[in-house]
Amino acid sequence: MRGHPHLRWEDIDEGQKGGRGRGDRGGGEAGGLSAGGTGQGMRFIADRSLGKLSRWLRILGYDTLYWRGDEKELVELAVKEDRVLLTRIVHLMEEKGFKGLLIREDNPFRQLKEVIRAFRLPIKEEALFSRCLECNLPLEKVRAEEVEGEVPEFVLLQHREFSRCPRCQKVFWPGTHYERMRGLIEEVKREIEGDGRETEGKGPSGPTG
Ligand SMILES: [Zn+2]
Repeated sequence: MRGHPHLRWEDIDEGQKGGRGRGDRGGGEAGGLSAGGTGQGMRFIADRSLGKLSRWLRILGYDTLYWRGDEKELVELAVKEDRVLLTRIVHLMEEKGFKGLLIREDNPFRQLKEVIRAFRLPIKEEALFSRCLECNLPLEKVRAEEVEGEVPEFVLLQHREFSRCPRCQKVFWPGTHYERMRGLIEEVKREIEGDGRETEGKGPSGPTG
């Protein structure tokens, strides 16, 4: 199936598509960036059960490799590329030599909050919607004239801002669900910022389960 060459941001809701490759490469040219570090510069690798979480992290601008290959390679890549491993596979966390987080939530959006909390990830306005959801590569801004013929006419009339993935050539624009996604991101921000205040007086909650 070929599908459309363009993609709206809300397509994230469609779940996993394709699945031909074992992993979406990308962002591999980080060069001097201190990968796996902290904050905005953090890079991730997610196991095959975390496709939607991977997309959410990409929406926030985080370099996230979604790995559909086997577990051994998953760990090897985390080490080799200095990526933080995000996984639901308990026994993987027993291996040493890499930074990782065991994801406990089932809902992708809650998983995202787990990751943000665990690493105190900043949500930077300029990083939002800056990365291809499919390929994980940083998008390039393009003008409306440049995407003529590639996106539906009505979209062209309604939008000024487009961006294109340098690899898959998909064109992205803020579609109708874009605002809803922005709303969800704002919700995360508020919740995370409220963490400190809410826990006051309650004391730290112990481990459960
Ligand atoms: Zn792409």
